[in-house]
This record gives sequence, C-alpha cells and structure tokens, in this order.
Amino acid sequence: MGKKPETLPQKVKNTLGFFEEIGADFAVRGRKPARSLTPGPLPPGPRPKPPTVARNAALLVPVAEEILVCQKCPLSRNRAHAVPGEGAIDSGLMFVGEGPGAEENNQGRPFVGRAGQLLTKIITAMGFQRPEVFITNIVKCQPPGNRPPLADETEACTPYLLRQIEAVQPKVIVALGGVAANYFVPGNMKISALRGTFYDFGAIKVMPTFHPSYLIRNEGNNTIKGAVWGDMKKVMALLGK
Ligand code: URA
Ligand code: SF4
Repeated sequence: MGKKPETLPQKVKNTLGFFEEIGADFAVRGRKPARSLTPGPLPPGPRPKPPTVARNAALLVPVAEEILVCQKCPLSRNRAHAVPGEGAIDSGLMFVGEGPGAEENNQGRPFVGRAGQLLTKIITAMGFQRPEVFITNIVKCQPPGNRPPLADETEACTPYLLRQIEAVQPKVIVALGGVAANYFVPGNMKISALRGTFYDFGAIKVMPTFHPSYLIRNEGNNTIKGAVWGDMKKVMALLGK
C-alpha cells in the first residue's frame, strides 16, 4: 500500500504556502482564501483532477515560447536551439540540471545525450516514466564548451525557471550537480556535502545529488552510484513511491 494521497485541502494549503513563502502575492490576490481552504466534503467516487493542474500546465507554454526566442543573455548567440524543458506537471517531481550540452543544443530537448540517458534510467528506476516528471535546467541555452553558467547568465534566465516552478508546483526538486544545488541552496557548498539532505525552497523540498555526468565520469564507482540511489530513495519515500 502506498502513502495516502494528499487531500484536496492539504494541496490547496501547500500551494498557497508555496506562493506566500516565495513572496508572490498573485496566487491569493482576488481570491477568497478562507473559502478555498475549506471546500465542502467531496462526493464519493474517483476525484476529478483539480482544474488548476490543466491551468498550470498551460502556463508552461508561454514560458517555452519566450525562451525559444530569448536574447536576454549572450548565450543566445551561439545556440542552435534553446532548451526550455519538458514533462508533465502532476507527478510532484522536477529535475533541474545545469544547462544544455551539445546534444541538447542540437535537439532542443533537455537531457537527451549520454547523461540524459542515464537520468532517464534513474527516473524509470524510481517508478516514473520520464514524460511524467518535469525536466529542465538552470540556463536554457548551452554555455560555450559546457562551462558552468556565469552569474549574469543565471540571473537573466532565472525568471523562466521560477515561472516553471510556479506552474509545476513540484513537491520535490532534484538538483542535479553543484550548479543546480547552489542555485537552490546558496552558500557555495560542495555537492558532496549538500547531497542526501532535503533543503527547503519555499514549500518545496530540494534534494541535491550528483550530476549524471559525474556518474558517467566515474563509471564503475559503486559508492557514488549508491549515494545517488540513496538520495532518490528519499525522494521516492517523500512522494509515496
Ligand atoms: N547536462 C545538464 O545539466 N543538462 C542537460 O540538459 C544535459 C546535460
Ligand atoms: Fe535567454 Fe536563458 Fe538563453 Fe540567456 S540562457 S538567452 S536568458 S533563455
């Protein structure tokens, strides 16, 4: 038996909590929170998907459209394709990497190269199908030579990521590698020190773990592999998987 699914009032509360904690007031503006927090008893039978899911998924479309034509930072100049991200929003799970690599730049899709194939395996091992989770990166265009994104580039790209997070409203974000981990947990700590622990990002839990490229560079190292799997098991437990 899995964990009990989140009840509707809990979900609404968590959602509002998230927006309050990141300081966004638009989620509650013009609503009647007292009313929406205490809906009447639901009728028996299967629960309809809350309409907010469809509405939030629709929010991702304009974000992607803006990214595809964005010129807010110099990374726009050499890209073949910007890579907005992809996936569904209702699994409660989001993966955030560093930035597109060569293959991602060619295809316009996140995590489709070697590291991506490994990430797909990890997602499947966690009991999800890849299209069920949302996958994106800190910056949406490939940095030259796959160097880490510069502070200015990250800052320019941040509004897109925050809008994606608002739309997806994940329960957990897995931060892949040091760049993503330091975005969510500022303080320049090493990924080896950050990984394995949940951090709060508003109402969202962030689990930093090693980047799949690091696993590939250390192929055969079962300690590193075991660490990542241990981190993912914590994520699965939180999601009731
Ligand atoms: N590495 C990343 O950080 N992101 C991708 O999309 C691919 C490789
Ligand atoms: Fe725009 Fe982000 Fe691409 Fe820079 S990296 S051009 S901010 S989409």
